Amino acid sequence: MRIFASDLHEKKMEKTIIAGPCSVESREQLREVTAALAALPQVTMIRAGVWKPRTRPGAFEGLGEPALRWMQELSAEFGVSYCCEVARPEHVVLCQQHGIGTVWLGARTTGNPFMVEELCAALRGSGMAVLVKNPTSPDVRLWLGAIERLQQAGIADLTAVHRGFAMYHTQGYRNAPLWEVALELRREMPEVPILCDPSHIGGRRDLVAPLALAARELDYDGLTVEVHPHPEVAWTDTAQQLDPAAFAALLEAFLAPRAEMPDEADSNLTPLRQQMDDVDHELLALLARRMQLSRSIADIKHRQGMAVYQSKRWNDVVADRLQLAATLGLDSGFTKELLEKIHAESVRVQMES
Ligand code: PEP
Ligand code: MN
Repeated sequence: MRIFASDLHEKKMEKTIIAGPCSVESREQLREVTAALAALPQVTMIRAGVWKPRTRPGAFEGLGEPALRWMQELSAEFGVSYCCEVARPEHVVLCQQHGIGTVWLGARTTGNPFMVEELCAALRGSGMAVLVKNPTSPDVRLWLGAIERLQQAGIADLTAVHRGFAMYHTQGYRNAPLWEVALELRREMPEVPILCDPSHIGGRRDLVAPLALAARELDYDGLTVEVHPHPEVAWTDTAQQLDPAAFAALLEAFLAPRAEMPDEADSNLTPLRQQMDDVDHELLALLARRMQLSRSIADIKHRQGMAVYQSKRWNDVVADRLQLAATLGLDSGFTKELLEKIHAESVRVQMES
């Protein structure tokens, strides 16, 4: 195991790998998983939940302080570092007392600026590293806001964690990945490393590796994965935890060396990228023309007392464009979403003109 650098920003070239059980369940369970993970040189740090935020009451809520004592002992025995979730200022104090140098804000905390403020006050001056999970709702501003609050509290070692979003329809996942939200966070804050948490996105063992490999294609800075010595009897998140062997296989694939971009390939890319730039410029010019037409149509609708939204016309437009999209080989889901976006903007423009 590598020792967690005090500042992740300095080791941006290396992938950060965090792994461990959803929850600490006993000293034996923590010792067993620690022994397995300490043997993997690629692992940066061990995660283990000590206080568990449960969606509904009555479930196991974490062992609290005794778990921290075991972490402290095992950290000395195996030479590893642990991290855990903090949701209240007292948790931060207890972590400090037990030598935990890295903590994470859970999804339910990131979405609550009051709680983030309280945790910032507790973390200020602690020198702790903080991982910030995305909020449960796909609101990139809440995620950015939590990171900004921590930055303002002087926390220098910050990392974002993408764990997916709670939606009514989650496309077969426990939490919808909505990769574009995480990519938007990276665009806004390129200096903050971002890890993928495929366990909480997938919610199922068989989905963890494919999600981790998707994160590899998107050049994430690392992973945080739930690993349990006996996943089938885990007390929390039973369906999604990997056993150490499955995790080691996933790591191998995630960390497989990437081919360096040869010069020749680079020069082949340049003209294609130029063409792509031209196409984007044309697309935007066409969209501007479409909005201009929309305004002219709005003038007529307003003069004739017609409603802006005409459902028959819109249904005809969608049917026609989907048919064309099919002949052009464009994905129908993508086309429909794009049309809906364009139409929503067109309606907005007409309402305002
Ligand atoms: C966890 O990591 O175990 C956890 C509860 O995560 P989240 O806050 O992403 O739900
Ligand atoms: Mn979990």
